[in-house]
Amino acid sequence: MRTYLVLLGPPGAGKGTQAALLSQRLGVPHVSSGDLFRDHIRGKTDLGKLADGYISCGQLVPDEVTIAMIRERLSRTDAQGGALLDGFPRTPAQAEALGRLTQELGGDVRAVVYLRVPESVLVGRLTGRWTCRAQGHVYHERNHPPKTAGVCDLDGSELIQRDDDKEETVLRRLGVYRAQTELLIEHYRGAGLLVEIDGSQPEAEVTASMMAALKGRLE
Ligand code: ADP
Ligand code: ADP
Repeated sequence: MRTYLVLLGPPGAGKGTQAALLSQRLGVPHVSSGDLFRDHIRGKTDLGKLADGYISCGQLVPDEVTIAMIRERLSRTDAQGGALLDGFPRTPAQAEALGRLTQELGGDVRAVVYLRVPESVLVGRLTGRWTCRAQGHVYHERNHPPKTAGVCDLDGSELIQRDDDKEETVLRRLGVYRAQTELLIEHYRGAGLLVEIDGSQPEAEVTASMMAALKGRLE
């Protein structure tokens, strides 16, 4: 039985940070829709060219192409045991598609971890975020600085600031989250799948809270 977990929360909640740790501990791949789009943009594929227009102005990429991209990713052999989804689903249509897709693949969504962080904290987290070019490892100029400025601790690659992390685009993304994604919290709470975690704690405490809350659900 394949196990799928979803990380839900606003931009800057810590989904990517926690997913990296959790996927290692659970032994399933970290599937980030944002990272997949950025790979396509770097590779200059048709999907990358389409996605770039939406991402750079802080809008969501249309459901149809996003769902097709995730379908392809979850069908790869490294996801035979399931996956940890980060940034997908972001709309009701994507949530419905994920339910169908996981069933087709012979599994189900076991839990949806919602990282709750007050909006006042999010802007500072995003505008101070630095991401490694090679693998997307996540740092913050104050909260989680790298050992050497501008260099990833884990793979030595260059740290860059994402174009869509400038304040103006961040504010637009937070508006998009409130309008299109936030309602998934109640959807998954109603389905009995929601695990709510205080994401404003320090990183290690968020990880510990998540592991404790997931223990019973994953056995
Ligand atoms: P998301 O994937 O939800 O957008 P990230 O994991 O990329 O969020 O984190 C956004 C920024 O906040 C990064 O700069 C990261 O280093 C920082 N961050 C993540 N978790 C915490 C935390 N618990 N406390 C303080 N800063 C954090
Ligand atoms: P963050 O967690 O900081 O919001 P992501 O890397 O998850 O950033 O997403 C970056 C951008 O990629 C989003 O603002 C959006 O344009 C696009 N994107 C990512 N995931 C999705 C999705 N599931 N549906 C539509 N667009 C998406």
